[in-house]
Amino acid sequence: MAFYCFVRQRAAGQAINRSVEKDECIGVDWMGKKYLIKYERDKCIGAGVCVVMDDKSFEMNTDGKADLKGGNKADAVYEKEIDEAELDDMMKAAEGCPVRVIHVIDKESGKQLV
Ligand code: SF4
Repeated sequence: MAFYCFVRQRAAGQAINRSVEKDECIGVDWMGKKYLIKYERDKCIGAGVCVVMDDKSFEMNTDGKADLKGGNKADAVYEKEIDEAELDDMMKAAEGCPVRVIHVIDKESGKQLV
C-alpha cells in the first residue's frame, strides 16, 4: 500500500520528496544528517585548496595554515559539526587537501568518509 511521505526521505544519498511504499522507506530524516569534521591543523602545509573549495568553512591564517571557521580545539585537532547542506563543499575541501588532514565523519554511522 502506498502512502505519502511529506518529509524528506533519503535515497541514494539524495533528499527527495515523493510518495513511497512502506517497505521502500528507509527512514524519515527530520533534522537532516550531521557530520563531524576533524581537522589536524598542525599537519596543514598551507596549500590553500580547502579555502578555494569551501571558503565558508576555511580561511587562511597569517601563520600560513588554514583555520576551520567555527572549529573548536579538541586535543590536537579542531572539530566542528556540519549539516548536510554544507557537506558537498566540505567533501571537496577534504578530498582536495594534498595532505589529507581534513576528515569527514558521518555522525550517525560513525563511518569516516574522508
Ligand atoms: S588544503 Fe589541507 S594543507 Fe592545504 S591549507 Fe587546507 S588544510 Fe592545509
